[in-house]
Amino acid sequence: MIIIQKLWSAKIQFLKGVGPANAARLSKLNIFSIGQLLEHYPRRYEDRSKIKLIAELIDGHFETFRAVVMNISELKTYRGLKIVKIAVRDSSGIAHLTWFNQSYIKNKYRPGMDLIIFGKVQRNHGIIEINKPDIELVERNSPSTGRIMPVYPATEDIPQWQLRSLIEQALQIFQSTPGSESTEILPADIIIRFNLINRQQALANIHFPVSMETLLQARRRLVFEELYLLQCGLAYIKQKMKYGSKGIKHARDNELVVAVEKSLPFALTADQLQTLREIKTDMEDTTPMQRLVQGDVGSGKTVIAAISLAKTVENGYQGAMMAPTEILAEQHYHTLARLLAPHGIKIAVLTGKLNRKIREEILDNIKTGLIDIVIGTHALIQDDVEFKHLGLVVTDEQHRFGVRQRSKLEAKGNHPDVLIMTATPIPRTMALTVYGDLDVSIIRELPPGRQPIATYARNNNRREKVYGFAVGQIKAGRQVYIVCPLVEESEKIEAQSAVSMYNELTATFFRNIPCGLLHGKMKPQEKEAVMAAFANGNIKALIATTVIEVGVNVPNATVIIIEGADRFGLAQLHQLRGRVGRGEYKSYCILLSDSTNEETVERLKIMTEVNDGFILAEKDLVLRGPGQFFGTHQHGMPDLKIADIVRDTDILLEARQAAQQTVCTPEYLEKVWQTLKHWFGDKFSMVFHR
Ligand code: ADP
Ligand code: MG
Repeated sequence: MIIIQKLWSAKIQFLKGVGPANAARLSKLNIFSIGQLLEHYPRRYEDRSKIKLIAELIDGHFETFRAVVMNISELKTYRGLKIVKIAVRDSSGIAHLTWFNQSYIKNKYRPGMDLIIFGKVQRNHGIIEINKPDIELVERNSPSTGRIMPVYPATEDIPQWQLRSLIEQALQIFQSTPGSESTEILPADIIIRFNLINRQQALANIHFPVSMETLLQARRRLVFEELYLLQCGLAYIKQKMKYGSKGIKHARDNELVVAVEKSLPFALTADQLQTLREIKTDMEDTTPMQRLVQGDVGSGKTVIAAISLAKTVENGYQGAMMAPTEILAEQHYHTLARLLAPHGIKIAVLTGKLNRKIREEILDNIKTGLIDIVIGTHALIQDDVEFKHLGLVVTDEQHRFGVRQRSKLEAKGNHPDVLIMTATPIPRTMALTVYGDLDVSIIRELPPGRQPIATYARNNNRREKVYGFAVGQIKAGRQVYIVCPLVEESEKIEAQSAVSMYNELTATFFRNIPCGLLHGKMKPQEKEAVMAAFANGNIKALIATTVIEVGVNVPNATVIIIEGADRFGLAQLHQLRGRVGRGEYKSYCILLSDSTNEETVERLKIMTEVNDGFILAEKDLVLRGPGQFFGTHQHGMPDLKIADIVRDTDILLEARQAAQQTVCTPEYLEKVWQTLKHWFGDKFSMVFHR
C-alpha cells in the first residue's frame, strides 16, 4: 500500500532512460511523476494491426508496412531546405521516407535495419513517399508493434516512441508492484452499479489496448472517473458554500424596492420575473447567494441587476457591479443612475481613467458608506477599494473575467450575495461541468415587440451592394456597425486592421458619412468619446473590432456588417449581432466571408437560420469543441484529461447522478480533492471558482 503510493508519486527519473535532460523535457508536458506519466493519456490511436506490402499501399491513406533500410541520404533544395531521405524495401517494392530540416534523423538509422513504418502514403508516378513517418525498430521487439498504437500529446523533443516506451516501462513496474489495486479512486458500489472496469485494467488498456473493445471499456471507465470526481468536488463546494458560511439575510421587499419596480418604464417579462423571484429568495436566505443568470443578448439582465442592487441598499448594504470594459461600465452606470437615482440611491462609477483626486473622493465615499452602489471595471478590485458593508456583488459578462478577479471583489465583503450574469448561453453539459457549484436562472424570452434580426451570409463580390444598403439605412436616419476581422491573440494587429479598414471605407463607400473608429488600443478617453458620439447619433457608421461585442446598447443602430465572419464562432457572431435589433426598427446582420470551407459555410448558414442564442451555443459547442467555445477570452473551462463533454454527454449525466447519490465521507472527499488538485494544477481554482 505504502509502496504503491510511493511509486505513484515517485519522480520520473526513477525510470530507466530518464536523466535530468529527459526529465526536463517531460516536465514540459506536465509530467513529473510516474503517476502523471501513467495519466498522460493518448490523444488518439492508430490501428496498426494490419501490416501491408509496399506494393499494396494506397495513395492518401495512413498505412503500416514493414521494410528494411537500403540507403540514407541528405539533400539540399535550392531554397536551402535540407531533406533526409531513407529508401526502404520489402519483397514487393521500394518506398522513400522523407524529413525536412531534421538532419539528426540520418544518424538514427543504418542500412539493414528492420523497421515498422506508419504514415500517410503519397504515390507520385509510381514513386512511393512517406513524409515524417512514425517508425519502430523490429529488433526492439516492442509488444506494441502491429497493434493498436497510442498517439500521445507530445513535444518536438520527446518523440512518440520514447513516450510509449517510458509508459510501457512504468506500466510494467506499476502492475508488478503489490497493492496496485489500492490506487482505485472510485467507490466499490459505483464500479459495480455502473459496470466499470477497475483502474489498473483501465490504465493498461488506455495505453496499449488489446482490442478496440477493451479500449472502449478503458476509456469509459476513465471518463467516468474524471467526471465523477469533478461532480463530487462541485457538490462539495456547493454544500460548503450553502451550509458552511453565514451570509447576509436580506429582509422581504420594502418601500424602496417596490417603488423602483413601480417606476420601471416597462413591464417585466415572465422570465425576468421568475429570475428576480429566485434572486430575492436567495438574498432573503442566510446562506450566501451564488447565482448565475444566463440571458440571451438583449433579454434585459441589467434591470434585474438594478432591482437586486436596490434590494441590498434597502437593507442598509452597498452593492458593486463589475463589467469587463469601460464602455460597458459607463453604460451600466447611466442605466442604473436613470433607474435608481430618482429614488435617492447614490451611485458612482469607478474606472481606470479617473484622475486621482476624483478617485480618492469616490474611494472615501465608498468606505464611509456615502455611496450605495458602485459600478466599475477591474478598477473595483484594487486593494485600496474598501467598502463599509458590501451586501451584493454583480459580475456582468463573467466569462471575460478570471475567477480570481471575481473572488477578489467578493472578498471585499463578508460573504456577500453573488450574482453572475452572462449573455453567452452555455450549453447544458458545459454548464454542469463548469458551473456545477452555482445555481442557474435563465432568461430565454426577449422583451415583447422585438423583431428577429434578418441575417445574410454574403461573399466579398457583394461588398459594394452590402455597403450600399448600409448607406441607405444611414440616409433613412439609422446607424451601422462594421466589425473588422478577428485576429486571435493579437489586439495590436487587430487594431491595425481596424485602422486600415477605417481608412479604406472612409475613402470609398462612406466618403460623405461621419464615421468613427473603435479598437482596443485606443486610450479610454478616445474610446469613450467615440462611443458617446455614436450613441448620440453624431457618428453614423462605427468601424470597430470586437470591443463592441459585449453589451453595447445603441437602439438606433440597425445594421451590423461583420467582415471576415468565418473567423468567429457562432456564440461570438451572435453576441455581435445582438448590437442591433435593440430598438423599434427592423435590423440586419450581414456576414461577409469568402471562405468556401464546407464547415464554415455551414456555420454561417446556421446564423442566417437561427436567432436563439441557446440553440446556437449548443451548435457551436458541437462544431468547435469546448476549448474554442469562449473564443480567445476563454475562462473557467478546465482542460479535461480525457472526457469530452460533447461526446461524453451520456457518461457525464451518469457520473453526475452517481455523485449526487453518493454520500461522501470527509476522508473520501479529501482524497477526491487531492486528486483534482493534482490533475488540474493551476486551473484548479478556475474549475471551482475559488
Ligand atoms: P442584456 O440582457 O443584453 O444586458 P439589457 O439589459 O441591455 O440586455 O436590455 C436590453 C434592452 O431591453 C434595454 O434597452 C432595456 O431597457 C430593454 N428592456 C429590458 N427589459 C425589458 C422589458 N421587460 N420590456 C421592454 N424592454 C425591456
Ligand atoms: Mg448586459
